[in-house]
Amino acid sequence: MAKPIILITASRQNHVAAYGEIQAVATGCSLHYVDAIARAGGAPVLLPRLADREAIQAAAGVADAILLTGGGDIGSLCYGEEPHVKSKWQDPVRDEMELELTRVALERELPTLGICRGVQLLNVALGGSLIQDVPSQVPEALKHYSEGLAALLLHTIVCEEKTLLHRLFGTSSLAVNSYHHQAVKAVGAGLRVNARAPDGVIEGLEAADGRPLLGVQFHPEEIAEPYPQFQVLFDWLVREAGARSGAHRRRGERGSHVQPILDDSSAADAAPRAR
Ligand code: MN
Repeated sequence: MAKPIILITASRQNHVAAYGEIQAVATGCSLHYVDAIARAGGAPVLLPRLADREAIQAAAGVADAILLTGGGDIGSLCYGEEPHVKSKWQDPVRDEMELELTRVALERELPTLGICRGVQLLNVALGGSLIQDVPSQVPEALKHYSEGLAALLLHTIVCEEKTLLHRLFGTSSLAVNSYHHQAVKAVGAGLRVNARAPDGVIEGLEAADGRPLLGVQFHPEEIAEPYPQFQVLFDWLVREAGARSGAHRRRGERGSHVQPILDDSSAADAAPRAR
C-alpha cells in the first residue's frame, strides 16, 4: 500500500559565517519532523518556504496531510495587533504560505497537525489571536523557553477530558518540553482548547467538531525517541492521512480543488494517483 504523503512546511534559514555575514539562504526543517513522520509510516515531503500561491495549492493537491512546523513569530498584523517589543524572527512570506496552505487544508479537510508555531498558525488562520510575549504578558508565567542542553521535559500540562489529545495520550497530566515565548490568546472559530500548562497558558488546540485538526504548543518530534509516548501524535496524523487517501483512491478522486483532472468520476478508478 502506498505511503500517505505528509507535506511538512519548511522555513527560511540563513547560514551565517563565523564573522556574522549571511553566507547562504536555505529552506528546511528539523530532521526530527521528518524522522517522526517516517517512523509513523508516512512519506515526508517538504514544502519549501515560497510565495507562489498556485504552487502552494498544487502541493496541497497531492498531499494526504499537512504538518505545520515550529519557527519564528507570526507577524502580529496577521491577527490585527501591533507588534510587542519582544516579537522576533518574523517572515511574512512564510506567514502567507502557511496561511494559504491551511486555508486549502481546511477546505479539503486534510488532516493537519500543528506544532508550536504550527498551533499558533492554525489558530490565526481561523481568526484567533496570540499572546505575543508570555514572560511579560502572563502574570506568574512558568518558564516556557527551555535553556536545557538536551531534550528536556520542562513543565507539565493537563489535557482536557473528552478531547482527541486526551484520547491519544491516554492520560490527563504529563510533562512536556517547551520552546516558545508566544501562545494562543483568543481561540479561533471551530477550535477548542485541549491542554493547558498550570499557569493557564494554552498548550494545545483541536477541532471542536471532531475534524482531524490537532495542534500542540510543545515539540513532540524532538522527544519522540527518548519518550515514545509522544510518537502517537505522528502516528495519528499518518493514520488519518492513510484513511483519507485510501478512501479517495477507492472513490477515484484526485482530491484537488485547483484543477479537476477528470470530469467523469466513473472513469476515474483507472487513473493513477498523482504521486
Ligand atoms: Mn509551554
